[in-house]
Amino acid sequence: MKKQIPYKIYLSEKELPKKWLNLRAFMDKKPAPLLNPETLKPITEEELSKVFCTELARQEIDDTTPYIDIPEEIRNFYKMYRPAPLIRAYCLEKALGTPAKIYYKFEGNNTSGSHKLNSAIAQAYYAKKQGLKGVTTETGAGQWGTALSMACSYFGLECNVYMVKCSYEQKPFRREVMRTYGASVTPSPSETTAVGRKILEEFPGTTGSLGCAISEAVEAASKNPEYRYVLGSVLNQVLLHQSVIGLETKTALDKYKIKADIIIGCAGGGSNLGGLIAPFMVEKIKGKADYQIIAVEPASCPTLTRGKYAYDYCDTGKVCPIAKMYTLGNGYIPSSTHAGGLRYHGMTTTLSELYDQGLMEARSVEQTEVFSAAEQFARVEGILPAPESSHAIRVAIDEAMKCKETGEAKTIVFGLTGTGYFDMYAYKKFNDGEMSDYIPTEEDINKGLKSLPDIKA
Ligand SMILES: *Cc1c(COP(=O)(O)O)cnc(C)c1O
Repeated sequence: MKKQIPYKIYLSEKELPKKWLNLRAFMDKKPAPLLNPETLKPITEEELSKVFCTELARQEIDDTTPYIDIPEEIRNFYKMYRPAPLIRAYCLEKALGTPAKIYYKFEGNNTSGSHKLNSAIAQAYYAKKQGLKGVTTETGAGQWGTALSMACSYFGLECNVYMVKCSYEQKPFRREVMRTYGASVTPSPSETTAVGRKILEEFPGTTGSLGCAISEAVEAASKNPEYRYVLGSVLNQVLLHQSVIGLETKTALDKYKIKADIIIGCAGGGSNLGGLIAPFMVEKIKGKADYQIIAVEPASCPTLTRGKYAYDYCDTGKVCPIAKMYTLGNGYIPSSTHAGGLRYHGMTTTLSELYDQGLMEARSVEQTEVFSAAEQFARVEGILPAPESSHAIRVAIDEAMKCKETGEAKTIVFGLTGTGYFDMYAYKKFNDGEMSDYIPTEEDINKGLKSLPDIKA
């Protein structure tokens, strides 16, 4: 007899993954290697170790080991908030009147409010193990900085966060959460780094960007041998850590013999989506199962849908390794969409390559339709979603409505990456009817693409 599927599929502590899944190891054609920005040659583990913790540099380059053990200390921390539930959106299905079956993996059940804690705790662990004193990082919307602050305080590490100035001013409470966990928070661009001073001189009054904050954080770390730089998205090591999302989702679905048809996730730098799809993509690559996989990005920052697959700098200061990725150009300045976590000009190399091979698709959606989906979801499912996560909700609802038309009962799984309590300013704008959409013109896009370096792939 078929088991009744509960509203929430919880896993036991024992079912928490013991190994991360390294998706690259399963790819026939691997993502292109990161290049050293000085030599333009594939970057070595040794060179990367000057910026990143040694073990994380190793993980970054490793595209052959299929599974990597999750250290006990990290698993113990995971146990405080994982396994995360997979929720059947019965109430949303009913409200939509769709025959589709909708599930979402909820990653907002921790104080940082997003999936970013999954990688923050891993990165802090390796920094501590290496005997470092502290780490530096950047944060845009603030979720990553918060997650890292929590992870660093757990392991007794110092944490210096460069926060994009507009977020620093717009989200004072995020800043206070970080400080409560012991982090020091600097608005970026700042006078504390050479790159910050240069940017301030060139663009006085700028409210900053993620690319600029990255450069500042890298510079700050490089000045202190007891510090390293850490990053919350885009990198392969982050996708690796985020594979816990997909592994748990797969275990939960398998438990009830549910086969997903469509898997949807929002994509900023690509880490939650890369983690969510990892075990499913492995099956797809091996020809064992087929899934429709959809990356959702904001129309204002359409990296996959309108960008180019090329080598590009990951940061404004051009100090980070160069990556072959879908990109709008390191000089692309997205309009001030509220989904701060999706405002990055590039996309992780792994998803870029999978997308280029046609193994997944991408869709871009406008801000107001994202918030209307967020509202519709919140009113029936209860959870107040982050604007970033709501991009996935939008497309999940769209797909469910297609099912209503065709009468197909497809199974849709999407990643609900976090909660939106610190985004009430954006919600207010939406509620007041003052939110606007901005779609970059061809000219805007071309201007960004002109900033691509001339490096042959
Ligand atoms: C950072 C963030 C994202 C986007 O980052 P990815 O690396 O693409 O996953 C999405 N949702 C939330 C809630 C975030 O904090």
